[in-house]
Amino acid sequence: MRREGLDFRVLPEGGRESVELGLRYVNNDACYPAMVVVGQFLKALRSGEFDPETTDCFYAQTGGACRASNYVPLLRRALDAAGFSRTRILAANAQGNAGAEKFAMKGGTLWRAMLGMLYGDLLMRLLYRTRPYELNKGDSDKLYGAWTEKCRLNVERGSWGRFKADVSGMVGDFADIPIDPAPKPRVGIVGEILVKYHDNANEHLVDVIESEGGEAVVSDIANFLLYCLYDPVYAREKLSGPLLPKLFGIAGIGILERMRRPMRLALRGTRFGEPHDIRDMLGTVGDTVSPANQAGEGWLLSAEMMRLMDDGIRNIICIQPFACLPNHITGKGVMKELRRVYRGANILALDYDSGVSNVNQINRIKLLMASAVA
Ligand code: SF4
Repeated sequence: MRREGLDFRVLPEGGRESVELGLRYVNNDACYPAMVVVGQFLKALRSGEFDPETTDCFYAQTGGACRASNYVPLLRRALDAAGFSRTRILAANAQGNAGAEKFAMKGGTLWRAMLGMLYGDLLMRLLYRTRPYELNKGDSDKLYGAWTEKCRLNVERGSWGRFKADVSGMVGDFADIPIDPAPKPRVGIVGEILVKYHDNANEHLVDVIESEGGEAVVSDIANFLLYCLYDPVYAREKLSGPLLPKLFGIAGIGILERMRRPMRLALRGTRFGEPHDIRDMLGTVGDTVSPANQAGEGWLLSAEMMRLMDDGIRNIICIQPFACLPNHITGKGVMKELRRVYRGANILALDYDSGVSNVNQINRIKLLMASAVA
């Protein structure tokens, strides 16, 4: 984005204060992620760091078939009510929401954003697989920081050759960190996209798992993009959807999976494991849920749980915002079936909300960890 001449900033996660602020301007019937993000924007605008007249709020959300379609109007309303009516919203989704300007990414920016996403996925995988086992405290975080800086440089340059060299370099570096090989319980985290990756919104779930003696396994964010790209393919094949979006979806999936190939090659045969191809995930999920489940995280949520268990990870925490209907169907709704198919599955459903008790959440995680198998 900066390379395009935009003064682009990623907002800090904001802490409890952001959630409280979001709650003041968004009805608490709305989804928890909406409150979190609205609160982050309002906190930043109120800080005095940004001129509300010349600052835009870039909202990278999907505008999906559930209440996600309301996120932009909710933010618009909150901005107006808080006195920021001249602050524009830039929506990076295909919906063309009322109250937002459409933000079209240039090809080069999209390419660099994809590289950034893949670097992030790989770094997350390597960090979470190494940190709980490291012999010298802090080794993994230090290496993670150093590699993040290197990756940042190449995201700006957008070099494919450099990307390929970097992925094998970082896998090698993390593999060299001295570790204690004694196994620990591995706990997969699946769920709604914001609470899954937003450390503050999920009350630092990865840290809680690690402090309880486990290892967190979080799947790649690229899976979510691939899942969204499949929507128009299914719509064309089963629901008489238009042809062009289907072709775009197929091409997008092909390109992104090709871009993940160097990561797979670098990870193959290591203890870090490699990402699953979305087409394989799709191929096996149909026995449990229909790929027609496209709201929220839809069929991907079930597919990720199945892949985790195929990889031997039987402890899973499925997190979703309270009252998130689509994810309760494909998350909680399939657990009975998963427990039948995968014997010994240890699955916990956790709901997140602005009013949820942190102590209660931690106690339930501790309970899961007490029966978790390494
Ligand atoms: S996926 Fe769930 S939390 Fe997200 S907008 Fe839809 S209903 Fe709300």
